[in-house]
Amino acid sequence: MNDRFDPPAARGCLDTPVLKQRGQHEVFCGLTGIIWLHRKMQDAFFLVVGSRTCAHLLQSAAGVMIFAEPRFATAILEETDLAGMADAQVELDRVARELLQRRPDIRQLFLVGSCPSEVIKLDLANAAQRMSAEFAPRVRVLNYSGSGIETTFTQGEDACLAAMVPVLPDTDAREFLMVGALPDVVEEQALGLLRDMGVETVRVLPAPSRDAEYGVGPNTVYALTQPFLTDTHEALARRGARHIAAPFPFGEEGTTAWLWAVAREFGVKRATFDAVTERPRARARKAIERAAAPLRNRSVFFFPDSQLELPLARFLTRECGMTATEVGAPFIHRAVMEPELALLPEGPTLAEGQDVDLQLDRCRASRPDLTVCGLGLANPLEAEGLTTKWAIELVFTPVHFYEQAGDLAGLFSRPLRRRDALRLAEAEV
Ligand code: SF4
Repeated sequence: MNDRFDPPAARGCLDTPVLKQRGQHEVFCGLTGIIWLHRKMQDAFFLVVGSRTCAHLLQSAAGVMIFAEPRFATAILEETDLAGMADAQVELDRVARELLQRRPDIRQLFLVGSCPSEVIKLDLANAAQRMSAEFAPRVRVLNYSGSGIETTFTQGEDACLAAMVPVLPDTDAREFLMVGALPDVVEEQALGLLRDMGVETVRVLPAPSRDAEYGVGPNTVYALTQPFLTDTHEALARRGARHIAAPFPFGEEGTTAWLWAVAREFGVKRATFDAVTERPRARARKAIERAAAPLRNRSVFFFPDSQLELPLARFLTRECGMTATEVGAPFIHRAVMEPELALLPEGPTLAEGQDVDLQLDRCRASRPDLTVCGLGLANPLEAEGLTTKWAIELVFTPVHFYEQAGDLAGLFSRPLRRRDALRLAEAEV
């Protein structure tokens, strides 16, 4: 008998040809991830090696948050560094040394590369090794790139987590690893559901601190909570860990399928699974029903931006009654995305990568009711009469698992409600 949470017999968009786009990008860079990562790793510090532009981006993205003891900063590359007239490595060592002397609470230091550091080919891997040797065992120094050259803003988290995987110790323990930086309240909900089903040893990547770290090995099984963690997925596979392929935990359906894939791996009985999930599932369905009314029978067009596009299109079409005209994603990793493609109803154009002018033409031609895009495209499209949703909000807002399913639908319905209200007001004038 076919299980009701197993992948459906229909092939959805699995066989849909993907339009490959290789043109101009309109996205944020991976430094953005520091804003949510520094809250998850309480003994970590992110030292961006970049320009004043990078420092401004971080400050304005961090916006209202002023910390007495911040956990990120920018080591500014001056013109002399960029022109190769000064030894940037020496200067970087000095900045790191001063920082670590002043801040004994820092146990992990991430050197984060940027466009300028990549352009001058500053070797941060070498710097991290050199500093690790100097500051071990108290401080571990790792590096990753947050550069915006050919990347998207969510790849910063992916690069950071992927950098941590090789330094985790070896283990043969049979453990489940939940991969992705979720807001604490959402992470707690997910862990609570797994615990209630009897899935005992659950680890989270990133761990809240080095002291809470664990090993990885051939008996580790892991599931991604964020679709953009593809380099982390590859890094875990290289350590011998096994991936549980599943739709992502967005909406009632995605959450149930994700949880069931983990539960089945750990031999949880269906009756137990149903008993644990029945009530939150009902709450999620009700909340979606309420929030999704303005979305029904309307169309949505996704520009490639957050890497969340395919799972969100699946949620909007299957649970909120929308039609997707185009789903663009910066990258489509088949092994990670197959369960999503299998569920996504046939019909939309699937595009990978970006050629922004061509995509704008397709968007204008299809006149979708809702366009999901980056900040840079939202204002011009609004000026043309299209209703938009900023993709970046979807990453900054708790949207995973059952209790957030209604909020997720609400994020998409709000701009449509606003537009409807404006039209009504204009008609009455
Ligand atoms: S990393 Fe690149 S894209 Fe990001 S702020 Fe710095 S210069 Fe700009």
